[in-house]
Amino acid sequence: MTDSEVQTEVKKEGYLVIGKTKTTEISIDTFLCKGCGICVEMCPRKVFEWSKELSEKGVHYPVPVHVEKCVRCKLCELLCPDFAIAVRW
Ligand code: SF4
Ligand code: SF4
Repeated sequence: MTDSEVQTEVKKEGYLVIGKTKTTEISIDTFLCKGCGICVEMCPRKVFEWSKELSEKGVHYPVPVHVEKCVRCKLCELLCPDFAIAVRW
């Protein structure tokens, strides 16, 4: 189930870049993320895009710009080798 009727709001709070709709929230810890791209490549719904700016680590990080497309499979959270992603609903 998706909530495609709502748009994602993205904000940055400290080290967290947070994309959320009314029902789903995805956060990336940019301090933990090393920019490997597994989440970007493996998300079946193409929820992430690369950041334009660099993180504290000096890498581009995924931004959850299309949370409204997320099907909450948690693949991104499970595959992230650095435990940088949290998917909540
Ligand atoms: S939970 Fe699944 S659909 Fe949602 S962002 Fe992660 S990989 Fe993509
Ligand atoms: S899988 Fe984890 S470490 Fe790799 S780009 Fe995504 S959030 Fe960053």
